[in-house]
Amino acid sequence: MTDRRVPDGAPTTHPSTSRRRLLRGGAAAGVGALTAWAGPGGSAHAAGPRPATRTAHIVARRTGPYEVLALLDAHGTFPGRRQHWFPDAAEADWARAERLDPAAFGPDDTWELDFRCYAVRRPGGRVTLVDTGIGPVGSPASPWAPVPGHLPAVLGHAGIERDDVDTVVLTHLHEDHYGWTVDATGAPVFPNARHVVQRTEITALAAGDSALAYVIEPLRRAGLLHGIDGRVRVQGGPGGPSLTAVPTPGHTAGHQSVLVEGGRERVVITGDVLVHAVQLVAPSVAYGLESDQATARRTRRRLLDDARARGDLLAPAHLNRPFLRP
Ligand SMILES: [Zn+2]
Repeated sequence: MTDRRVPDGAPTTHPSTSRRRLLRGGAAAGVGALTAWAGPGGSAHAAGPRPATRTAHIVARRTGPYEVLALLDAHGTFPGRRQHWFPDAAEADWARAERLDPAAFGPDDTWELDFRCYAVRRPGGRVTLVDTGIGPVGSPASPWAPVPGHLPAVLGHAGIERDDVDTVVLTHLHEDHYGWTVDATGAPVFPNARHVVQRTEITALAAGDSALAYVIEPLRRAGLLHGIDGRVRVQGGPGGPSLTAVPTPGHTAGHQSVLVEGGRERVVITGDVLVHAVQLVAPSVAYGLESDQATARRTRRRLLDDARARGDLLAPAHLNRPFLRP
């Protein structure tokens, strides 16, 4: 099919393969240097020298009984120029996006982005974690992402022990979203947690995809893999506070987002439905690594329309703002 708009040299096949090519493409373009952020020093809430444009490591919002914590795993520069990854974006789109997320605009037309996970803490201290970041040095994201991520330390600063986490929702199986799922020995980092993944996402993995060996097989062996189909409530009951996994396909086949319904205000942990503010101001703008750009566009429009109608707060993984209204 030729209706997918993929930038020159950009991958058209599988995400993991894609990202390796992405790295080579970036290096070939002379933009291979990825900036690893120094990360947390002392307290996550503490100061410390840090460019003003960088978001804090932990930002909390409350909705009803839930505390939603945005946890910054890392910040870095994406390889290549931003227009390469969003070829449909017009100058006016970039200008509007820059007003919304100025920290995303690096020198030489680069794209600066956060790599963020979210934790939802319930009364009593039990936690649902959404995504596990880029992981340590040597993780599958290492060839292109600013490893090491700092999620374990940031969780500690938030007062979250690994055993407190009883559910991990993986929005999708790209390597910047599952990096801290297992440790260096392949043992699950969150041994008390069921790990919720759309079954479609697992079956869409190509043979040899690093997610199979790094995440799916270890979780399956440990009895912690929890495949779901479609919209599934993962916490709470009908009519009360709840967390719900909702299919939001397009970025990947089995991509899902998480609706946090605690009180009047709903928080939507979007995953990668939109990866840059330019897709918020112009939802039809495709991202070069979306596995199905037409579906991704439809999903994005629907999610944003719905969020605007309901007054939802968005919690995106890669914008440099952990919470924002669309
Ligand atoms: Zn991502």
